Amino acid sequence: MRNKFLTVVISLIIATVSIWWTFFLTNNNISYKEVPVFNRDSTKTFLLAQLNNAEEVNGAKRSGADLGDFYTIDIMNKKKERIFKEQHGDIKTKDYANKEENFIPVLMYHSINYEAGNELRVPKERFEEHVKWLKDNGFYTLSMKEFYEAITTGKRVPEKSILLTFDDGYKDNYTNGFPIMKKYKAKGTIFVITGTIDVSESYINSEEIKELSSNDIDIESHTVNHVELNGLNYEQQLKELKDSKEKIDRLLNKNTIAICYPVGKLNEDTIKAAEVAGYKVGFTTKSGYSNISQGLYKLKRVRINASTTVEQLQNILSDYK
Ligand SMILES: [Zn+2]
Repeated sequence: MRNKFLTVVISLIIATVSIWWTFFLTNNNISYKEVPVFNRDSTKTFLLAQLNNAEEVNGAKRSGADLGDFYTIDIMNKKKERIFKEQHGDIKTKDYANKEENFIPVLMYHSINYEAGNELRVPKERFEEHVKWLKDNGFYTLSMKEFYEAITTGKRVPEKSILLTFDDGYKDNYTNGFPIMKKYKAKGTIFVITGTIDVSESYINSEEIKELSSNDIDIESHTVNHVELNGLNYEQQLKELKDSKEKIDRLLNKNTIAICYPVGKLNEDTIKAAEVAGYKVGFTTKSGYSNISQGLYKLKRVRINASTTVEQLQNILSDYK
């Protein structure tokens, strides 16, 4: 009799757990409480204790809990990993923070247009070849925030992460580059010279900036007047950096975190001023992959020219580990 009773109780428990399990696998709602979830080696007592807290267990399961999960942090990480895989497929991720051996290539483009003899203008056909090649070969394009978090906090990003940057904010970034970026679902960053916004037809205007910004293209600063900062005193530099940041912050209601130094020129005052103005990262034109050991305000980039073929791009990225 006693044995029969125990069998019924255990069957009921198994049935209940199965139903919850199915429910959790099909539910995507992110809400959680800090409770342990049942474990592969659970004793019956432990399992029963969990069933008494049915609501908490359910909440944990909704957040993506797995057998063997004990803490909310694991549950949330697993959940994030699962969502990431749903969006990007089964690709490996990597931790870039404070890892001297880990480098992220930051590609530096300027204009996306054709002009005979001008290496700074990459024709749109060539640009499309580059972006398509990156996508076909499993590269993941980072937003500026993802890049910053990857190198500073260790937030995991895909193994083949890359940052695409465009200096100066040419109009053709919008007319030629943007449709290609959208087509391949690529993210990127445009460093704008704020003094040109709504002033010169050759550069992107406020409306275009807003549209780009709400479509995965980050807008960051390339100063107000595009003067070589190392030729200015500290106060003048601070003004260039502060005014441009404030203009973008206001226009997009955001916190601009990156500065790209015109012509790659900077001195010690520049770094001080960039920090005081509120930037978190600074990009130079020094050649190389970006790495935290270079210093957050002296990050290197890889120049891409009109003559850079897909084969050369492949070569540039072949050192990527
Ligand atoms: Zn520039």
